[in-house]
Amino acid sequence: MAAKAHAPGTHARKANPRPAARRRAKAPARPAPKRKGAPASPPAASSTGAATQWTPAAGEVGIRVRMYRVGFGDFFLISILAGAGKAVHLIVDCGVFKGTSQTGDIGSIEAAVADMVQTTGGQVALIVMTHRHADHIAGFARCAETFKKLTVGGVWMPIWESEYEPTALKFQAELTRTALGLRQHFTALGASASEAQETARKFMENATGELGVAGAAASGSNAVALDLLKRGFTGVTPGYYKFNDTVQLPQPLLDAGLSARILGPPPVADIDLMKLMDLQKNVGQYLAEDGGEDAGVFTPFGSEWEMDPAKTPKGQFECYTPESFREWVQNPRKSWESVTKEEASQARARMEQALKQSHPIATLTAAKELNAFLNNQSLVVLFTFKGKKLLFVGDAQAGNWEHWLFDTDIPDRKAGGTMGPTAQQILTNLNFYKVGHHGSGNATPKAAAEMMGTQGHRFVAMCSTEADVYGTENPDDPTKGTEVPRGPLLEKLASESALVRSDQIAITVGGRQIAATVPAALPAPVPGSRFKQGLLWVDCYL
Ligand SMILES: [Zn+2]
Repeated sequence: MAAKAHAPGTHARKANPRPAARRRAKAPARPAPKRKGAPASPPAASSTGAATQWTPAAGEVGIRVRMYRVGFGDFFLISILAGAGKAVHLIVDCGVFKGTSQTGDIGSIEAAVADMVQTTGGQVALIVMTHRHADHIAGFARCAETFKKLTVGGVWMPIWESEYEPTALKFQAELTRTALGLRQHFTALGASASEAQETARKFMENATGELGVAGAAASGSNAVALDLLKRGFTGVTPGYYKFNDTVQLPQPLLDAGLSARILGPPPVADIDLMKLMDLQKNVGQYLAEDGGEDAGVFTPFGSEWEMDPAKTPKGQFECYTPESFREWVQNPRKSWESVTKEEASQARARMEQALKQSHPIATLTAAKELNAFLNNQSLVVLFTFKGKKLLFVGDAQAGNWEHWLFDTDIPDRKAGGTMGPTAQQILTNLNFYKVGHHGSGNATPKAAAEMMGTQGHRFVAMCSTEADVYGTENPDDPTKGTEVPRGPLLEKLASESALVRSDQIAITVGGRQIAATVPAALPAPVPGSRFKQGLLWVDCYL
């Protein structure tokens, strides 16, 4: 999640023209990753609970997508009719995060989880975790004891969570370590922290989860959620997937006729794509019109002056030769020998001052890059059931999208080129789109939004979000807003779909009403679908 869609962290990557010769060849479908102890068929979905059964209306095939209103986060329950009115259930994410305004958590996720248990009768065929941000997994930690009591048939996670992928394993450990370190750094600034540093600290909380949650120790509640998903369900070893992997669907879902295709994340080797957070404004995404942030980055050293601190004994400045500070001597002369010891010492002081000034920028850049990297790990799944197609994209940002839209391994902020035929085929035939990244301006590239509405094609879009949690609108100039969800994006989607956002409905939690943040009646459905509002959710029947 980013308050500003335009991160300074992206400035160093030059927009590569996309040479045709280096385009990724169409990869054949890869075999499913080796899994030890693949789960036996989980028990069939509960036949208890008449609430899980319904009769499809004309044009519907028996899918229900329930979007819980949890605040700023995602929690979706998909139910499909498997025959004889019996439903099979799967969950996509279960999280919430308070965000930079600290208002994102509206206190409804426990009630939503309780409703899910009742609706499913405790039988969940599959849990999909798109990525390890708190706004997608906090519910698994907070309601861990409840989840442990479920009968779960399978868990899917992005390849980045795999214990059998050494590069990913090393990266995740490093990311966690960095997130905790940055969080500690920003927290230690206390009242002296700038607004940007405060924002960065909150980003890091999304990356680590809450501290002080039972069992979380110093590593945060995200670790608790990950532990539950990886090891908490008897007989279940998660499937770790990336683009084009063949999935192992739990038997009840297979029997019901569901199929799934993995579109993201890109392979682990495509690190450069993983860092690509946004595409260029006006061309690729619905970004704010600023672009000025890149100018502020200050680099104190030429690369030839960089030293390996590991080789420098702590506190021994003497191990630096006077030459080490050459760039910082005022009025440097051609002959180095004429510099006095005192001048060298002053030069060192100037260098240290410059370092101090550049440090906040470096830490902010690191925080934003880390955040983008985690979002780009999102597992992107296209489900198909009886001809209806549903796309769940997590919080995928530019690099994740580019890989499957443009068949490329090369990050390109201009998002140039022609969309691949497969991506075109997928996007022009969608029946349901889970709006990426809570409607943020750096998710859902313009090219994708435009393709979805090609030739008047109509679909359903659901956006789980909470207004006024991240970014700000600019009432004088909408092109300059950083608000989430992003106005121009939602306008575009609403023009081609029946768009519902979770914060447009009021909900009731334990007798307490939580008013809609952006009150609006449910939209007219597109043919073959209908909406129904509940106590805590909006249902979409397809
Ligand atoms: Zn999110």
